[in-house]
Amino acid sequence: MSNISSPGDLADFPASFKGAVFRPGDDGYAAAKRLWNARRSDQMPALIARAADPDDVVVAVGYAAEHDLTIAVRSGGHGVDCAAMADGALVVDLSGMKGTEVDPETGRATIEAGVLLGEMDAATQEHGLVVPAGTVSDTGAAGLALGGGIGHLTRSFGATVDNLLSIEAVTVDGRKLTVSADSEPDLFWGMRGAGHNLVIATSLTFQAHPVGPAVMSGVIVYPAAEAVKFLAGIDAAMTRAPRELSIPLVMLPAPPLPGLPQELIGTPILLALVIYTGPPAGYEEAMGEVGALAEPVANLVKPSSWLEANSLVDPFEPTGRRYHSAGGYLPRLDAEVAKLALERLEAAPPPTGPATGCMITFPMLGGAIFDRDEDSTAFSRVGAEWLFEAIAMWDEESADDAYAAWAADTLAAMWPRMSLSGYVNLTADRGPEWLRQVYGGAEKWERIVALKRKWDPENRLAHNKNVLRAAEED
Ligand SMILES: Cc1cc2nc3c(=O)[nH]c(=O)nc-3n(C[C@H](O)[C@H](O)[C@H](O)COP(=O)(O)OP(=O)(O)OC[C@H]3O[C@@H](n4cnc5c(N)ncnc54)[C@H](O)[C@@H]3O)c2cc1C
Repeated sequence: MSNISSPGDLADFPASFKGAVFRPGDDGYAAAKRLWNARRSDQMPALIARAADPDDVVVAVGYAAEHDLTIAVRSGGHGVDCAAMADGALVVDLSGMKGTEVDPETGRATIEAGVLLGEMDAATQEHGLVVPAGTVSDTGAAGLALGGGIGHLTRSFGATVDNLLSIEAVTVDGRKLTVSADSEPDLFWGMRGAGHNLVIATSLTFQAHPVGPAVMSGVIVYPAAEAVKFLAGIDAAMTRAPRELSIPLVMLPAPPLPGLPQELIGTPILLALVIYTGPPAGYEEAMGEVGALAEPVANLVKPSSWLEANSLVDPFEPTGRRYHSAGGYLPRLDAEVAKLALERLEAAPPPTGPATGCMITFPMLGGAIFDRDEDSTAFSRVGAEWLFEAIAMWDEESADDAYAAWAADTLAAMWPRMSLSGYVNLTADRGPEWLRQVYGGAEKWERIVALKRKWDPENRLAHNKNVLRAAEED
């Protein structure tokens, strides 16, 4: 497919397109192509078509076909690979499509594809409801849901895809389509995990659940030695904890948090992020043995709103730094995992500024994620008790190689303990062999490849963890 990126090219983009259009050299082009990860900010999409509605998406994909252009899709712009603004692509930019509609009677929430998680939470919380999704407010709900979607409510309600009821989509040959259990059910299966590869979602309808507004949330801080004890006991303690309790873990060099002893600053610590969505009065009992696993240096858990609880992670990964991440599922935690994580943090390259350079996260999964069969969605859940992710963040281009190598080496060290299947969204692309395994068994992979060949045979949706490229390199 062609790769056009000079100013003046594509001047015949249809006037019937209602949204904004940005070509290289246009005012607003640089701002329009800005993504969460600054690492690929030199990419030059051929044209960014910021759609006003699904009809605009139809116009844009028709134009891409006429000009033999690949299509990149941008919803929230949070993909770590920066695929949403690929070089030479026509970008279908959905970030302006912000509609939300919540039916308080049925708990059904419909969002357009440009809605961010914080916006979806705000709209549903007006009715005391939440769509189970991710943990950082400015992540795109669409990109997250089409890959799986995990967060603080996964233990209670499963992955985001388990709560997805239907999708309004545009195919790469320009047809508008409803995708659900009753309409194109095979495609619906594929969209729940491999959705970035198949059709363009313009809106999504979820089953939301009553949560909050009053919950308990906050951070408990452990020094390194206590982190080892905590990870050694957490799995056993959680088998007796209610699903309303979720405790994602973050290990990182201690930032200068108020109340932390000076001698800890810069040394590896464990942050246990506690989110309890049961009745606040039941919090102490819900924590049960978890509280006795290790001795914290600070306990900042307190009554909060759901919106505060689901913003706890926001400050850790701000927009505009350079990022790389590598990870997958871990069936269990133990003292060895903790020691390994501490060793890898000691081996981190020096920070390129005052902000955190490297951290290792363990989002807690399990619970309701296992209420569905592995074959119920393209999204895989084999071994998904925990997610493990090595996240490298820096600011200077000269440090790219050192940070990327740290994440890769950290993954390699953890690899023998990990499940072969994993989560396509929360890790940088690791190539064809990895992609062929990440959805689980061979039969699932073949089914995903068949869907790709049916719905996008020319690989127009080429900018993602790409199924066709991985299949053809098999
Ligand atoms: C700071 C941070 C925190 C995160 N936290 C979580 C978390 O808690 N839980 C979790 O599950 N994930 C999390 N993620 C991962 C996140 O789910 C993925 O990065 C997801 O792809 C982001 O979606 P987006 O719309 O923002 O991305 P974009 O960069 O816009 O798109 C990412 C990919 O999806 C494709 N795509 C986007 N929209 C559509 C669409 N409408 N139709 C078809 N294809 C589309 C794009 O082509 C691209 O390949 C996090 C990511 C970041 C950066």
